[in-house]
Amino acid sequence: MTTETLTNWARNIIYTAEKLHRPPSVDALRALVAGGERVRVLGSGHSFNEIAEPGPEGVLLSLTGLPPEIEVDTAARTVRVGGGVRYAELARAVHAHGLALHNMASLPHISVAGSVATGTHGSGDGNGPLAAAVREVELITADGTTLTLARGDDRFGAAVTSLGALGVVTALVLDLEPAFEVSQRVFGELPLAGLAFDAVSAAAYSVSLFTRWTRPGFDQVWVKARTDRAEADFPWAAPATEAMHPVPGMPAVNCTEQFGVPGPWHERLPHFRAEFTPSSGDELQSEYLLPRTFAGEALHALDGIRHVVAPVLQVCEVRTVAADEQWLSPAHGRDTVALHFTWIADAAPVLPVVRRVEEVLAPFEARPHWGKVFTVPAAELGRLYPRLGDFRRVADTLDPSGKFRNAFVRSALGE
Ligand SMILES: Cc1cc2nc3c(=O)[nH]c(=O)nc-3n(C[C@H](O)[C@H](O)[C@H](O)COP(=O)(O)OP(=O)(O)OC[C@H]3O[C@@H](n4cnc5c(N)ncnc54)[C@H](O)[C@@H]3O)c2cc1C
Repeated sequence: MTTETLTNWARNIIYTAEKLHRPPSVDALRALVAGGERVRVLGSGHSFNEIAEPGPEGVLLSLTGLPPEIEVDTAARTVRVGGGVRYAELARAVHAHGLALHNMASLPHISVAGSVATGTHGSGDGNGPLAAAVREVELITADGTTLTLARGDDRFGAAVTSLGALGVVTALVLDLEPAFEVSQRVFGELPLAGLAFDAVSAAAYSVSLFTRWTRPGFDQVWVKARTDRAEADFPWAAPATEAMHPVPGMPAVNCTEQFGVPGPWHERLPHFRAEFTPSSGDELQSEYLLPRTFAGEALHALDGIRHVVAPVLQVCEVRTVAADEQWLSPAHGRDTVALHFTWIADAAPVLPVVRRVEEVLAPFEARPHWGKVFTVPAAELGRLYPRLGDFRRVADTLDPSGKFRNAFVRSALGE
């Protein structure tokens, strides 16, 4: 038994499992899975809710004791990556072979398997969530045997953004593309009045808008352009004159290079550098993903409650995500606008505001990010995800006793 308190990155969740198991081999992992009644994997712990919590009697596993497998196939332009590997290591290895991932989240610190399990995404009108790159998933299922689900399998829609409910992901195979360079520029104030959202988000490969909701509009716009593509100008706001951090008061040195200096994709697509604390480090987060056609209306609706939001907000980020095929992906079947909130690290004043934001965004079919703080009821999730029943059927077949279903997953599945 360990005396160390086991928490997530944000320290708002204390895992109640007796210890964190770090099996040194796949056989040891298999034995732990076969012998456990309730099993969950902890990735890099960057989720803000109880999605990874197995409960006090459950087995909590980390795959960081396994060899950190990263096998690049340059001919096939794919990479096979172990279930405990983080994007920072993966991106460096892939880039060394002259190849790239299509996109990255705001930070490279997160594990690949944990990220795609929750539908984690970056930004860009044409960029699907990180899970969109996954072509194959290797799982240890409830009986301890290995199952591979690949694109084309009729269960594949459940396999990647799975909330960890199908089994332990020991490896993923991801699509790659030739390496590319990105130049990142930051622009200043952009008013909400007259905002041509579609043109702004289409101005470059990846665009992020930031606001503290202290006024009707945005304080910063981060524009990440591929140097191998003709990108539109950015006539709507003035370029920043100093390096910026999205959270006011935080040091810009934590952020990836700006001022249009071209650099490798993995050193520009994330906002934060791998060797520094991402974001503010003292925070809670929520995010809602809605059809992109609602972007303008939804932003005006949020502006209508900015006096409620601003006092507990560190920063709000608006991004776009292309539709994807995973049944539980918040971007499933619809080109998406993602409205993200970095809150202060105090749940008591934040939760009522989360509920208010959810009320205001409900008419826009807003799906909450699976890895962040939300209060949307299970019945509503059932309505928002038309393939939830199909997901449940796959989970029931692969895991009839519900070994991989914790309270969070049971609630999400309406059980
Ligand atoms: C500072 C910060 C910035 C963020 N920025 C973004 C962003 O830009 N975009 C975005 O979409 N999200 C963002 N997030 C949210 C984050 O990407 C998600 O919470 C993501 O799931 C984190 O991955 P993880 O490995 O830390 O997950 P964990 O919280 O460790 O796990 C998430 C889920 O995956 C499961 N899991 C993990 N590994 C495995 C495995 N091998 N097999 C089976 N199940 C597994 C866990 O059981 C759990 O259910 C951010 C979070 C933080 C803290």
